[in-house]
Amino acid sequence: MSLLEVENLSVWYGPVQALRGISLRVDDGEVVALIGSNGAGKSTTLRTISGLLKPKTGSVRFDGRSIAGRAPHSISRMGIVQVPEGRGIFDNLTVEENLDLGGYLVRNTASLKKSRDHVLALFPILAQRLKQPSGTLSGGEQQMLALARAFLAGPRVLLLDEPSLGLAPQIVQNIFRVLGEINREGTTILLVEQNARLALRLARRAYVLETGQIQAHGPARELAASDAIAKAYLGTSLGNSSENAASSD
Ligand code: ATP
Repeated sequence: MSLLEVENLSVWYGPVQALRGISLRVDDGEVVALIGSNGAGKSTTLRTISGLLKPKTGSVRFDGRSIAGRAPHSISRMGIVQVPEGRGIFDNLTVEENLDLGGYLVRNTASLKKSRDHVLALFPILAQRLKQPSGTLSGGEQQMLALARAFLAGPRVLLLDEPSLGLAPQIVQNIFRVLGEINREGTTILLVEQNARLALRLARRAYVLETGQIQAHGPARELAASDAIAKAYLGTSLGNSSENAASSD
């Protein structure tokens, strides 16, 4: 049994069908990537898993239990924690206050302190910014704060929506390195990314979503090596990163 199992999910926004019967699974300990172009339905998939949208058909099972249609707070309490596109940071609160919000569900203060120390070691820049209003952080620092806050909620699965969006390549490398570390320490990750190259490097398996349907799935390495995938997705993401600029022949 997989930790997270999505089956035959269809989601509509009023008259617009965004997901057309998609199925995917995430096993305990995996990083799974969901890639695809603009408007393919990637964010819709995450929002449905986290309870922000209700599917018309299909099921979402977490740890064997059906969760589709449950309220978002009940789903996050089960351990599915989403970092939305745009990060969801409270600008007027300090870094420290935002972090405290992440840990508010964790009752055990000793373990929370340990996680807090750990996450500040993973993102040392945040330790230097604890008293600073979060709205004054750079984009990269805000993304780190969003990840740190999600980590403090003690997730069993992290749902990440475009963590690389709008960030300089070096910051992105740093964030992805930490994501790898968090995963190796045991957190399962479902990652939505337009930067397919980056996503396929971190992920073990991946799904390719196009106009609301899964077009391909398999081991990330195999997808990265496939001509069709390279043409459709890896080419377009090449222009956006410096490492690609270095090999843009
Ligand atoms: P992007 O990377 O651009 O965010 P995505 O793959 O995450 O793309 P979604 O945001 O899930 O795509 O959108 C899937 C489809 O649903 C698109 O056609 C989009 O226009 C439509 N859609 C998304 N949100 C809404 C909404 N609130 N109302 C109506 N249609 C929506």
